[in-house]
Amino acid sequence: MRVAIIGGGVIGLTTAFALINKGHQVDLFEQHDAVGMATSFANGGQLSYRYVSPLADAGVPWQALGWMFKKDSPLRFRPRMSISQWHWCLDFLLACRASVNQTNTAHLLRLALHSQAVLHDWQARFGLKDFAWRANGKLVIYRDGSHFSHAASKITEPSSQKVLTARQCVNAEPSLVDLAPQLQGGIFSAGDEVGDCHLFCRQLLQQLNAHPHFRLHTSTSVQKLVVENGQVRGLVLNNDEVAVDHLVVAAGMGSLGLLNSVGVKVPLYPLKGYSLTLPVQDNASVPQTNVTDYDRKIVYARLGEQLRVAAMVDIGNASTELDAGRIASLRQQAQASFPRAGDYQQAEAWAGLRPTTPQGTPLLGKSGIKNLWLNLGHGSLGFTLACGSAASLANVIDNEPSEIALTGLQLSD
Ligand SMILES: Cc1cc2nc3c(=O)[nH]c(=O)nc-3n(C[C@H](O)[C@H](O)[C@H](O)COP(=O)(O)OP(=O)(O)OC[C@H]3O[C@@H](n4cnc5c(N)ncnc54)[C@H](O)[C@@H]3O)c2cc1C
Repeated sequence: MRVAIIGGGVIGLTTAFALINKGHQVDLFEQHDAVGMATSFANGGQLSYRYVSPLADAGVPWQALGWMFKKDSPLRFRPRMSISQWHWCLDFLLACRASVNQTNTAHLLRLALHSQAVLHDWQARFGLKDFAWRANGKLVIYRDGSHFSHAASKITEPSSQKVLTARQCVNAEPSLVDLAPQLQGGIFSAGDEVGDCHLFCRQLLQQLNAHPHFRLHTSTSVQKLVVENGQVRGLVLNNDEVAVDHLVVAAGMGSLGLLNSVGVKVPLYPLKGYSLTLPVQDNASVPQTNVTDYDRKIVYARLGEQLRVAAMVDIGNASTELDAGRIASLRQQAQASFPRAGDYQQAEAWAGLRPTTPQGTPLLGKSGIKNLWLNLGHGSLGFTLACGSAASLANVIDNEPSEIALTGLQLSD
């Protein structure tokens, strides 16, 4: 079968990889001149398989109100005269209930654990380890006692997650020594991993390029989809129409406009975030596990000889321009936590747009149009969820049962 994919981020590339390995012919269209240059470029690097709770949770709206008046707030909301923003925000507020959060966390956990299994299978069969990948575990640290007690109360034995005192956190991750007096405790997930998402995209491409049934079309922006009699007939590129048999939309935030124009409404909104990447200076002062500073919503990941620091959610700012104030605040907070890790003045700053649904769950599978398939809306977990989403979608396209239930992960749910 011939399948066209729009989007050369981690979602489009893993989809291409899954389809090629099932014997299909794949054409991948990417508007940039290289793959992995948009949101998949310098994200937090966390393969956070066991820590997947969506942003929408009970208490978050109140917390967000408090954050609005703080200069270094993890979440910033700019109201816009935009119906789509208010629609999304309303659905987000409706998802901010403990019961809804629990249900969506269960859907994400199922997909995340499947994703880990698929990545490990691909690594065993094809290598795919050369992207600063390590199985190093994740430690979520808490500065606020009530947040810590609440998180600890959710861990029920037997569990793969361990509740640690502040002292045990420092024993597990000695680079936390400077933070010790401010810590209430932490939760350690031994099974989580880390990697450089951009390098992963390039590794996937290298393997795909060696395949005779794969074709990459870079610097090729898809202008629109052509739908006739309830099925996709083609793509418009540079005002020319190219015929397609099957089409997967995996274009991150670009998916919204493409799908809207053929009447497929997806509840996507860009949640802007920032990262810093700095060369490691003092090995012992850099976290070896993935560290999430829960109260500041900052993640730290060691990627080879670099430290990646990622954070912040800006709602109502859909440009990828760097905001000097946000970058300075991130730099200052990271430096206060891991002062000797590296030279923060040399850090490379980056901003990206998380393609996010109100519930935090991605949209996989059917679109309502016969041969048009979706793989989008992975929000802050796209790297984590990519391999499982791709493998599941490839099964759906082949009309085979998915290895996991896709309930709660489809447009029709
Ligand atoms: C600050 C930050 C930190 C993050 N940290 C993590 C993390 O630690 N772990 C994790 O799992 N996830 C993380 N994420 C989320 C993750 O990066 C995203 O979910 C993921 O990159 C989305 O991948 P994608 O392929 O859907 O989108 P993208 O990477 O944006 O790819 C979409 C591609 O489609 C192309 N495209 C769009 N429109 C068209 C068109 N019309 N024609 C042709 N091409 C088109 C774009 O150019 C782009 O290359 C983070 C995100 C941010 C912003």
